[in-house]
Amino acid sequence: MKVTDHFKNADKTLFSLEVLPPQKGESVKNLFDHIDPLMEFKPPFIDVTYHREEYVYKKRENGLLEKMTTRKRPGTVGICAAIQNHYKVDTVPHLICGGFTREETENALIDLHFLGIDNVLVLRGDCVKSETRFTPEPGGHHYATELIEQVVNMNSGRYLDEEQTYKNSTDFCIGVAGYPEKHSEAPNMKADIRWLKRKIELGADYIVTQMFFDNQKYFDFVRLCREEGIDIPIIPGLKPFTTKSQLTLLPSMFHIDIPTELADAVEACKDNKAVAQVGVEWAIQQSKELVEFGVPSLHYYSMGKSESVRKVAEAIF
Ligand code: FAD
Repeated sequence: MKVTDHFKNADKTLFSLEVLPPQKGESVKNLFDHIDPLMEFKPPFIDVTYHREEYVYKKRENGLLEKMTTRKRPGTVGICAAIQNHYKVDTVPHLICGGFTREETENALIDLHFLGIDNVLVLRGDCVKSETRFTPEPGGHHYATELIEQVVNMNSGRYLDEEQTYKNSTDFCIGVAGYPEKHSEAPNMKADIRWLKRKIELGADYIVTQMFFDNQKYFDFVRLCREEGIDIPIIPGLKPFTTKSQLTLLPSMFHIDIPTELADAVEACKDNKAVAQVGVEWAIQQSKELVEFGVPSLHYYSMGKSESVRKVAEAIF
């Protein structure tokens, strides 16, 4: 079922979550052990992230370095199918431009359609870790807008190499990313929201936000979107703080601010157990206020830490 249909059928705020595929060499059971404690909150859908290739350098016998590519968390499509089979919930695979040609994207979408997956979160993806700028694959897409166009074409039965339109088309519900604190590469918020609007004009059905720790940033973002004529659901993304190191990691990775009150409280903790407690309390307050605001779903970035998300969910759902 489509994510937007879950929202239409719901009479209250839903609980949803994002998980990462297991690292290469790990079993799917590790992921199920992480999801199991969260199933009692009845997530109607679970997002599965996509992790592109990374470059590693291996020392050869002659002492020279050999550049190799590796993917530490492969298997997004397989994990989505495994979660759907195991838990009977919908999954939302993240689909990115980076590292894919248009043909590879088309084949992945055909696989997802055959597997009965009805949703995709369409993203550009970040640049390869060792690079400073996003470089599209030759024959791939530059922006999420172009990838949306490809999905929309397939939803109308139009494939890359065919002149005709086929009746047996895909029918994906399309989610896209939004940034309450602006995407790092956008010159300003107005420009960023204009591109977000373009994603909606092209066919996106709902928005999921980058994580934020200050609800006012989300409220302002929703207002700016509505003023620009964006009228689709905007799902807030939340993450409970779990470690002190996240005070610097999260801002550098996601280009977000940590409110002074939260940063001070985390700084004052004597260990990460205390940080996790602060993180849970902060996320509960955020969640309560967002439910009051009437958000369709609270979307938790679990990042392999189900314990904190579970404590927040127990207080809210
Ligand atoms: P776009 O919408 O393409 O925007 C990229 C930048 O270009 C923005 O600054 C925008 O303002 C501008 N822009 C947009 N369209 C155009 C255009 N047509 N012409 C010119 N400028 C344009 N990354 C992963 O690798 N894997 C994941 O699983 C993943 N999941 C995510 C989930 C969520 C909810 C979020 C918020 C992010 C996720 N990301 C993921 C990170 C995301 O890929 C990065 O933030 C990436 O840098 C931007 O992706 P986007 O889809 O927002 O890009």
